[in-house]
Amino acid sequence: MLLGRRSLGVPAAAAADMHGKDCVKVAVRVRPFNKRERDAGSRCVVSMVTSSITIQDPRESQSCRSFCFDYAYWSHSSFARDHSGLYVPEEPGGRYADQNSVFQDLGEGILENALQGYNATLLAYGQTGSGKSYSMVGYGPNKGLVPKLCDRLFQAIGENQDTRQCQVFFSMLEIYNEQVVDLLSRGSRTPGGLRVREEQQRGFYVEGLRTVPCDSAAQVEQLMEQGTRTRTTAATNMNANSSRSHMLIILQLKQIFSKESITKQSNINLVDLAGSERQRSSGSEADRLKEGTAINLSLTTLGNVISSLADVAVGKKVVHIPYRDSALTKLLQSALGGNSRTVMIATLSPADICYEESLSTLRYAERAKRIQNRAVVNESPTERLVKELKAENTKLLQRLSRLGQEGRRANDETKELRQLLTHNELQIRAIQTLREQHLQEALKDWEQQYANITQERRMMQMHPYILNINEDAQLSGVVKLFIQEGDWDIGLCDSSPRSICIRGLGIQERHAVFRNEQRRVTLTPLTGSKVTVNGNAVFQTTDLQHLDRLILGSNCTYLFIGFPSERGGDDWSRYDYDYFLSELAAAEGIHLGESSAGSSQTDPSLLAVFYDYVKLMPMVAEANQMSQELNKGVQFKLEIKNLAMSDSKGHDLQKEIVVRVTSSGRKQVWMWSKAKFVNRKFLMEDAYQQHQAASGDERVEGLPTAALPRDEDPFWDPVEPVLLGTAHLWLQSLAFRIPLEEQLEVLGSEGTEEAILQAQLVPCTSTGLPMGEDDILIDPSELLGRRLDFQLVLDQCCGLRWIREARNRGVQIGFRFYNCSQPLYSPAVWHNVNPLLDHRVHFASLHTSQRLLDHLQSSAVVLELWGLQEGCTDLTSCLEGVRMTTEGIFIIEEAGPTDTALVDSTELSCSARALQQDMEELKSVNTALRKENQSLREQLNAARNGE
Ligand code: ADP
Ligand code: MG
Repeated sequence: MLLGRRSLGVPAAAAADMHGKDCVKVAVRVRPFNKRERDAGSRCVVSMVTSSITIQDPRESQSCRSFCFDYAYWSHSSFARDHSGLYVPEEPGGRYADQNSVFQDLGEGILENALQGYNATLLAYGQTGSGKSYSMVGYGPNKGLVPKLCDRLFQAIGENQDTRQCQVFFSMLEIYNEQVVDLLSRGSRTPGGLRVREEQQRGFYVEGLRTVPCDSAAQVEQLMEQGTRTRTTAATNMNANSSRSHMLIILQLKQIFSKESITKQSNINLVDLAGSERQRSSGSEADRLKEGTAINLSLTTLGNVISSLADVAVGKKVVHIPYRDSALTKLLQSALGGNSRTVMIATLSPADICYEESLSTLRYAERAKRIQNRAVVNESPTERLVKELKAENTKLLQRLSRLGQEGRRANDETKELRQLLTHNELQIRAIQTLREQHLQEALKDWEQQYANITQERRMMQMHPYILNINEDAQLSGVVKLFIQEGDWDIGLCDSSPRSICIRGLGIQERHAVFRNEQRRVTLTPLTGSKVTVNGNAVFQTTDLQHLDRLILGSNCTYLFIGFPSERGGDDWSRYDYDYFLSELAAAEGIHLGESSAGSSQTDPSLLAVFYDYVKLMPMVAEANQMSQELNKGVQFKLEIKNLAMSDSKGHDLQKEIVVRVTSSGRKQVWMWSKAKFVNRKFLMEDAYQQHQAASGDERVEGLPTAALPRDEDPFWDPVEPVLLGTAHLWLQSLAFRIPLEEQLEVLGSEGTEEAILQAQLVPCTSTGLPMGEDDILIDPSELLGRRLDFQLVLDQCCGLRWIREARNRGVQIGFRFYNCSQPLYSPAVWHNVNPLLDHRVHFASLHTSQRLLDHLQSSAVVLELWGLQEGCTDLTSCLEGVRMTTEGIFIIEEAGPTDTALVDSTELSCSARALQQDMEELKSVNTALRKENQSLREQLNAARNGE
């Protein structure tokens, strides 16, 4: 839709000169397939030509959307890995955009702006795993924008040392759940995080944030390493998900040009935003708990701010821009609507299964590029104050000496002036001492950290160790826990000197024991603790081999690194979090590799569901652990919705993951969508952390349930009827006025047999008398234009699994006939495994049309089995808009004006035959689907048994 609009090819500086405004520059970048996408046989749905990008809907190849940005980076293909591990274009000048070329375009501009004294901001936006951190920070030798920018910054500083003096200050912080955490401060976290304050001149800033003076790029890299380490420990300790946090690096550059006596100051904000995906998935779903906003208020608000600003830019009237609604938007206020030159890099996955997310990212970027800022060269208030005070002092001194020269006896005046002078000097000194103190502290701290890092490097060359593997690749390999000679407890215990302390869900006080003896390392789980090695649960002493994968508790993942002699030059990066997950899934019977699911025939959407399933497995384990520790008495279980269900034509329904929540004693059941579960889990983590904080550091077993009022409890919901399963009653016999009596198998969404339902379709007279054999039609087209009466009879349900599980339950049957807008429900029956329903509904078509006839010949009425539980209200038929006769007959069709008997009847019987064929086909499709579902079900069951 945007093709044809002129691309913003004009350099930003030129654009700024023309209007006094700077548009936010936007770049998009598409990464290579990851292993999972490759295994899935994914197709690339993104293409690029110069700065325009096109994305194709994988389900409709005709449907394409094009967007134009300032830059579009193709980092998907045509690259090679050189000897040093750098990704470079396959051939010189190739289309592949490597880290260097991205830096050339985006980084150099930011550097240039900063050196001129402008504030500059760089934001990375995109779904988790799309390459934000790769672009911002980079991996290994493929350095991203931040380290490259620092390299060039210090190089530039070194070049002009005679004309100017420069100082660089570095800070790094994280916003998680609206809490601001200083990543460079080793001290204990401030509960509730640091405060974001506002000052007239400075705007919003973080109070008490550590700023470290830096004089080399190497130093900045060390600091980033330190910050990442803090982030990693925070993520594992607090059981927090880094993809939900925003990481901000702030570089302050101060330049003093002594000759011209001007000071220029600029802030460079480098922001690696939280994954964009949750925002969308939670936004679409309503829950009685404040979800969505709670998950990532900052990201949602950022979206709102960007939308408002984009509206402003196109001249719409906007009353209020909600900067103040979140911590992130407060800190980015000047980057977005003010004094900054801003660049956004939007990162995309190329794969068909990520189409929705990628499209939403492009739309977001599209809005962002409309935003206009007004950047100015900055002068620091502190510098000015010192300068002003100095100037005032010089003047005062002059006046003093003049007074002396003039020999006038103006004692009073002199005294007053001297006082002023002393006061000013004290003030100058105070400002300087404060700053120096600050710097000294930060420097000392940094030296300490540096010593620790050096120490760690030495240890790595001497001992085996375990290495953390995080869902966020950027945080993997940051924590190293060394296993020196002897026995070492691993667990929560931090008191014992011979222990390795870790935190996380499901980690016991003493969880397991490592033994390092005679150049062998073994691991022994202690009673009641969960330990998995290479995907398999272990209960006994196990020998560890170099590169073994360990999972401790619910989800603490570590890679074992053996003795230095065993290591060789291997690269551990292939053992990423995905690897752990698929190994775990494989051990439980689900194969996502090239072998089964990866075969090219597998429907990509089904595959996506399986990946979701595997991804959610550890989250469900964590939720169960929290429920147990908080005595919530609920259990979570993953299910695939619609796995064995189809619509009224027998078409396969879209499948998705749901979480079945069961309260203890299996008395209550809820079905949560994936989005709801993800949101709820976040709220559970919140509740869990509060509980931990409240119960102090000592962990008491069986503490009373965290005291949350029911309506704020994320583990709970008011009970509602649950859809247990469906059965298909095919309508074809009605077209011939043949009565039908069936024993239908009601299948649960995963293929479980929920009940047998006895149902009938009885053609009848308008008074409800059953028709006989004489009324059978040879040719259904005889019905055209005539009245058709029939009854749907629900006789009995047998073997209700739902009631067998708990007697205090009931069921209802729901169904929707033809064009009825609302479902009808049979009355509720309770406490009985084989309840009589004896429910009869009379339908009539007053003037049967071809459409209805087609429908009868090709469709089924879907009978839904609904489970009722104690405390929930029955489902009632809503009769609004439903046509009924005075005798209570439901009218499904009245006389249609166009539908007359004019149509050639031979043609009709032809079409009827064709329809009949269609239906046979559909039926066989349905059978095939059921077969497929059966096998999927088996896989799942196998997985279940392992749980
Ligand atoms: P995000 O920060 O958006 O969650 P990452 O930057 O951590 O995602 O990227 C996820 C994975 O994809 C990482 O393993 C990373 O190395 C890889 N990746 C991302 N972008 C690229 C790219 N342009 N070229 C090569 N690999 C990439
Ligand atoms: Mg990241």
